[in-house]
Amino acid sequence: MSGYTVAVLPGDGIGPEVTREAVRVLRAVADLFGFHLDLTEHPIGATAVFQSGNAFPPDTRDAVLAADAVLLGAVGHPALASARGERSPEAGLLALRHRLGVFANLRPVSLHPALGHLSPLRPERLHQVDLLIVRELTGGLYYGEPRGKDAVSAVNTLRYTVPEIERVARVALKAARQRRSRVTSVDKANVLEVSQLWRETVSRVGLDYPDVHLLHLYVDYAAMRLITDAASFDVLLTENMFGDILSDEAAVLAGSLGLLPSASLGDGPGLFEPVHGSAPDIVGKGVANPLGAIGSAALLLRYGLELPEAAMLVERAIDAVLASGARTRDMAPGGAFSLDTQAMGQAIAGLVVEGGSPSLMSSRGYGLSLEPL
Ligand code: NAD
Repeated sequence: MSGYTVAVLPGDGIGPEVTREAVRVLRAVADLFGFHLDLTEHPIGATAVFQSGNAFPPDTRDAVLAADAVLLGAVGHPALASARGERSPEAGLLALRHRLGVFANLRPVSLHPALGHLSPLRPERLHQVDLLIVRELTGGLYYGEPRGKDAVSAVNTLRYTVPEIERVARVALKAARQRRSRVTSVDKANVLEVSQLWRETVSRVGLDYPDVHLLHLYVDYAAMRLITDAASFDVLLTENMFGDILSDEAAVLAGSLGLLPSASLGDGPGLFEPVHGSAPDIVGKGVANPLGAIGSAALLLRYGLELPEAAMLVERAIDAVLASGARTRDMAPGGAFSLDTQAMGQAIAGLVVEGGSPSLMSSRGYGLSLEPL
């Protein structure tokens, strides 16, 4: 029997609540496909600060580096909002990403047909939105040196090297080949020299992928197009800070932050986490939507363990549960909601367990089928 080690970092706030459900689904997948899954749990973020004074402790660092993939919940705690250095949960997350060398962050955004009413945009603007943002994650303004501030001025440095741009461009171009073969690279080449290098380098790498249509857009225009014509995008390739902003903008299209998964890839173990944060306003209430975490587990299966069929099974189970009308509170604004966090996880895991038997699934009363929707 093949086996994999997944380091599970539940983190803070609703992180443990949603991660528990993602783990439930991963266990169900492992049972169904007959592989051994070693899931080891480690502290990160505020949880780790309260235990040891360090948001990214050495034991956690060693465990993630030894794993095949890493599943993260979320970090952040109001009591540590102004903490700096080792005591900052957010700095711990940046250190984790940096240590894993995960230079490419992938965020798929699509709108489930049954959730169109949750989006702030009119339905005709959302028809067939299905895009993938590939964001450079370990370079650019967030890491550039020198940096600092005094009483009268502050400085940050935006620097990219050609190899940093090339490797993330390849991730985007390869991903496009599995999709609709279109990459839109985002920059500010009319103002920034770094963006000019970005554009030249992406264009050059694009020559190796003649089957992929490559387009360049300025970031301000890309931000507008995400609102007016998001369906025209397939893969959006961006540097770190532009990607941070555009991916949150795109997140709104899907209707709830709680739905969105992400994968961060490098040369070692990948990091898989929902897009949302620790949501201290809803912690412990059982209303957190676990679908972003469960979708991240699907990405872990696809990109982390290279089990695309298992990933597809989880994604279809998510689609089927949504099609059945099951909702957590964030997906049923102002109205009654049917499932709490755990019940939503159980519904997905139940479908996965029954993955080989559609008749059993429909007999569960979800009206479910694992046919493509
Ligand atoms: P947030 O994503 O935690 O919450 C924003 C809003 O969305 C809140 O109203 C929250 O209740 C809601 N929400 C988030 N996830 C949800 C889910 N799964 N189901 C239902 N509703 C959900 O962002 P924030 O409030 O700006 O930040 C809170 C903390 O999280 C801060 O400490 C911040 O630094 C941290 N944070 C961490 C990450 C991460 O770990 N990757 C990302 C963003 C923010």
